[in-house]
Amino acid sequence: MSPRPHTVTRGLTAAAAITLLTGAGIAVAAQQASAAAGCRVTYSANSWSTGFTGNVSVTNLGDPITGGWNLAWDFAGNQRITQGWSATITQSGQHVTAANPSWAPGLASNASATFGFNADYSGTNASPTSFSLNGVACTGTPTTTPPTTPPTSPTTPPTTPPTSPPTSQPPGSKADNPYAGAKGYVNPEWKAKADAEPGGSRVSSNPTAVWIDRIAAIEGTTGSSSNGSMGVEDHLDAALAQGAGYIQFVIYNLPGRDCSALASNGELGVNDLPRYKSEYIDPIAAIQSRAKYAGLRIINIIEIDSLPNLITNTNVATCATMKSNGGYVQGVGYALNKLGAIGNVYNYIDAAHHGWIGWDTNFGPTADIMLQAAQASGNVKNVHGFITNTANYSALTEPYFTINSSVNGTSVRQSKWVDWNQYVDELSFAQGFRSKLVSVGFDSGIGMLIDTSRNGWGGSGRPTAASTSTAVDTFVNQSRIDRRIHAGNWCNQDGAGLGERPRSAPAAGIDAYVWVKPPGESDGSSTLIPNNEGKGFDRMCDPTYTGNERNGNSMTGALSGAPISGAWFSAQFRQLMANAYPPLS
Ligand code: BGC
Repeated sequence: MSPRPHTVTRGLTAAAAITLLTGAGIAVAAQQASAAAGCRVTYSANSWSTGFTGNVSVTNLGDPITGGWNLAWDFAGNQRITQGWSATITQSGQHVTAANPSWAPGLASNASATFGFNADYSGTNASPTSFSLNGVACTGTPTTTPPTTPPTSPTTPPTTPPTSPPTSQPPGSKADNPYAGAKGYVNPEWKAKADAEPGGSRVSSNPTAVWIDRIAAIEGTTGSSSNGSMGVEDHLDAALAQGAGYIQFVIYNLPGRDCSALASNGELGVNDLPRYKSEYIDPIAAIQSRAKYAGLRIINIIEIDSLPNLITNTNVATCATMKSNGGYVQGVGYALNKLGAIGNVYNYIDAAHHGWIGWDTNFGPTADIMLQAAQASGNVKNVHGFITNTANYSALTEPYFTINSSVNGTSVRQSKWVDWNQYVDELSFAQGFRSKLVSVGFDSGIGMLIDTSRNGWGGSGRPTAASTSTAVDTFVNQSRIDRRIHAGNWCNQDGAGLGERPRSAPAAGIDAYVWVKPPGESDGSSTLIPNNEGKGFDRMCDPTYTGNERNGNSMTGALSGAPISGAWFSAQFRQLMANAYPPLS
């Protein structure tokens, strides 16, 4: 884990976003179609260097079709479809057949059906020119005049596929808020560690998320520092035995993981997207979809820190690579698609926190890249919601000032701490970002989660009233409950406390406060600790480090003596309990 970024990188970020959009404009190309009495097809391809999203619309110009339809075509090149939506697509060599989705077998005269797909290719991505509907050639004139310029080998996937995948899907029975009225699963492995600490039993019965932080964790990793012997199936079985209503997993193993930091680099290299799909997501989906778990609400937190890194941190080489090779967007899209297809599974994408994307230059572009990943999944409804503040320390609310406060005529936005951000706390940010996400194309029913595991900021350092200072910096520094040295600090923060206990529907637009980062598990080691888990040493976890541009060249505020990320950090857990807010009794 390694949230961070912003102010100083804002200039770079804006420039990067503009470049990307320009690239996308060039990349969006190719449309073609053909025709005959019988049917009319419009085909478009939104290409990047190694792949494309295809959108197809077929209109039946003949008699009504009631018993099912299929549209066939041949690719001229080596295009290979990897996933489709709103049609059942099969490919044999260059020949493709797209059949009606099971819930819509009919096609009335002059009615149209649309579907889409993602595909790989190399060389030239020529659009097919001949189609047939139930064996009858489509020679009707296409409805749109397509651009004919082929893509100019862009190095980045386009940010905005031209056509959203349709939002219709088979009727499902997913709950609007999977947390509502449901008892959360208590991870026995975390509970045992918490119970072993003095006073730990006061909090150990809270639900925390199970992090699937490597392929081996699917089966269970006896002896690893973060997880125990229980794998995905064991946790699900235990959830059934507990009579739990919901269970939370963190899907966290993207290729080139944690690209802007070192503490949680994972096992998969930057080009390991195929392994991510076949060895990680597919087996998890196979387990989560078992019939015996159908009565559980399975919540997946999707890929912490990944997509926002493509907006703010592409000055870091690995992040630039993950942007240009599409590994994060396609990986998240694949996870959303596979897991979202399961009727009792709920996907929440990680959406950073206010101290990362609360600035205008980061806010909109982050929402856009979330949409791009959702569209890569084939259906934006694969996303049930978003989570903010995962494993971070941002205060839920600042009780003594808001973004609209001013001191002696000076807005708090001008203070060094707020630094022109549009938000001062997570609740306002999560609600604001939810609105933004809906405005860019997400379902209006999406809900937000906020990780409150370590953002309590109680204890003796907590202010009890607004400052009376008339100097804006002094006012903000004395009034804020977030006691970090800088809002970009993210590792094992000294002075933090447990935050709001997990609960559902606590505020408008918020599905739940959750404990996704299990309190007591380290964010990263404070000195280099050799290990065989791929965990690096990030100086942001070193209390003697004087910082970098991402935390305003401030001290890190990290606790000393920390083990590698995910490992139990007893001293931190004790401090979190001591500084809990609301306090522990
Ligand atoms: C680590 C994981 C761990 C998770 C939860 C991450 O920072 O990389 O190994 O499971 O935190 O503690």
